[in-house]
Amino acid sequence: MRPARALIDLQALRHNYRLARELSGAKALAVIKADAYGHGAVRCALALEADADGFAVACIEEALELRAAGIKAPVLLLEGFFEASELALIAEHDLWCVVHSLWQLQAIEQTPVHTPLKVWLKLDTGMHRAGLSPAEYADGYQRLLASGKVARIVLMSHFARADELGVATTGQQLAVFQAARQGLAAECSLSNSPAVLGWPHVKSDWARPGIMLYGATPFEVPQAEAARLQPVMTLQSRLISVRELGVGEPVGYGGHYTTPHASRVGVVAMGYADGYPRQAPTGTPVIVNGQRTQIIGRVSMDMLCVDLTQVPDAVVGSPVELWGKHVLASDVAIQAGTIPYQIFCNLKRVPREYVGE
Ligand SMILES: *Cc1c(COP(=O)(O)O)cnc(C)c1O
Repeated sequence: MRPARALIDLQALRHNYRLARELSGAKALAVIKADAYGHGAVRCALALEADADGFAVACIEEALELRAAGIKAPVLLLEGFFEASELALIAEHDLWCVVHSLWQLQAIEQTPVHTPLKVWLKLDTGMHRAGLSPAEYADGYQRLLASGKVARIVLMSHFARADELGVATTGQQLAVFQAARQGLAAECSLSNSPAVLGWPHVKSDWARPGIMLYGATPFEVPQAEAARLQPVMTLQSRLISVRELGVGEPVGYGGHYTTPHASRVGVVAMGYADGYPRQAPTGTPVIVNGQRTQIIGRVSMDMLCVDLTQVPDAVVGSPVELWGKHVLASDVAIQAGTIPYQIFCNLKRVPREYVGE
């Protein structure tokens, strides 16, 4: 059997969820959209079910997968519905629904529903992606109430730059939110992971942590609270071959990397078809046989090469950690010019194994 695996530590997932609740001092919807950022939505939801105040996913297809697996907890649809015909299913499965656009509000007004909806009304406080404008917001709230189809409204917004700890925009977005919610008696939801970790004065009734649940930092710089996270996924494989090369020998496609001295080179069963980023350059850290070394040459579809010159004990079959508790996915992401979110979501082909049930 090919040794490439993603090990998912559910104990670490629960630790991170509890940390999110502790730091936010609020209820927390565990964001498990996009198959729990590649970690497996159903397994993660089952592991968190006893603790979690609820879950958040992108769309009804993701929510119905959770309901089909027997998850009874609240599930919020972060993009709401895409067409009015989904409203019947939303009511039937007791899903919570974001309204981020006036056309959705109008659809609710015009569509009969059997059970009153639970709506999270989104305000655009400056990200300019989704949400009603501040000028539309109070009227939108009143229209939802007047529709008679809504049992409960939560006021929400989303930060564009909470992962940048110095910038003023997060405070500005907060001020826009507080002004727009004046006089509206409802619960609020603001914080994503970077806000939970890095903006402790942002308080609301519901946090929406995503990436931090999986133990990855949303920041590009070290941060004290992020250091308390436990990585959930270990992407691992084994050496499938080891060779000795003299100086000046090319390794891999393109031959751009050449050995700077006589080298031992290992081949790992892991490539971009598994989700390891092809953009990861020579020098990206990797753990072989418990020792830190680096990948060399271009990442191929099914294999990549590592420098074993300083890892003399490594042999065919030695274990390799591509990311996990010793090499952080966020460090690989920075090397590859991307973010841990994308690193996790790109995971494919490798079987997932769960520990810490
Ligand atoms: C994805 C998402 C989150 C979670 O963001 P993280 O940065 O992963 O914590 C929170 N809120 C909304 C609206 C989202 O789309």
